[in-house]
Amino acid sequence: MENIQVDVLVCGGGMSGMACAAFAAEAGAKVLVAEKQADVGGSSNYSAGMFASTLSDLVDILQGWGVDNVQARRTIENYDRVVRLGDKSISLEAPIGRAGSPPTPLVDGEGPFYAMEVQPSITFTYGGIAIDAKGHALTPDKSKIPGLLVAGVDAGGFSNLGYAGGLALAFVTGLWAAREVARDLGLPEPRLPLPDVRDGEDKPVQGRL
Ligand SMILES: Cc1cc2nc3c(=O)[nH]c(=O)nc-3n(C[C@H](O)[C@H](O)[C@H](O)COP(=O)(O)OP(=O)(O)OC[C@H]3O[C@@H](n4cnc5c(N)ncnc54)[C@H](O)[C@@H]3O)c2cc1C
Repeated sequence: MENIQVDVLVCGGGMSGMACAAFAAEAGAKVLVAEKQADVGGSSNYSAGMFASTLSDLVDILQGWGVDNVQARRTIENYDRVVRLGDKSISLEAPIGRAGSPPTPLVDGEGPFYAMEVQPSITFTYGGIAIDAKGHALTPDKSKIPGLLVAGVDAGGFSNLGYAGGLALAFVTGLWAAREVARDLGLPEPRLPLPDVRDGEDKPVQGRL
């Protein structure tokens, strides 16, 4: 077996691991990501949706998810007819949301239209390894475990008062870990990229959320 010498071994290529790996590598560290699955991304791969500029494009995307696109279109059109146009001759299979009527241009109007797959699941446990504000794993008596940084879902203590979300936590604590690695190695501090000035410009409206 080949021996590989690295500065940082990232265990798990989820959002937190990849954030740490990317920032540490950009700072100049030699990084190895060990991921047990064929793809990186971890749970962040499930926290997404799609958008498209027309309803037809959207139902085509849904078909790629295994949804019957003809039935999907019929469901959306029936919803529009019952809720917006007040057609009482159809019985709906989809529940009517509490937000009231859908916007007027639901079916024929302008997009973007959004689709998200909804399923019950455990997003992450609230518990985890205690860390300090730099990402070091702590023992029960609050001393640092040298060389062990913890980020994302493996870090505990963030959602003690309520659900704090997992993606931002993974990204931010991944960055903390990369900063600590860079500090240890005497490398420049990893920084967030500057905002892209093109963010405000029109972009084609179809893609992944
Ligand atoms: C269905 C779903 C919906 C969600 N929706 C939202 C949302 O809307 N908003 C939000 O903020 N958060 C959401 N979350 C939570 C958020 O996605 C996660 O908290 C976040 O992505 C966790 O990132 P992570 O890198 O810490 O962990 P993970 O994504 O769990 O990554 C860990 C990685 O480590 C790998 N791994 C595990 N064991 C080993 C091993 N022994 N060796 C090598 N690799 C290993 C795994 O394969 C995985 O790729 C959702 C989660 C789920 C599951």
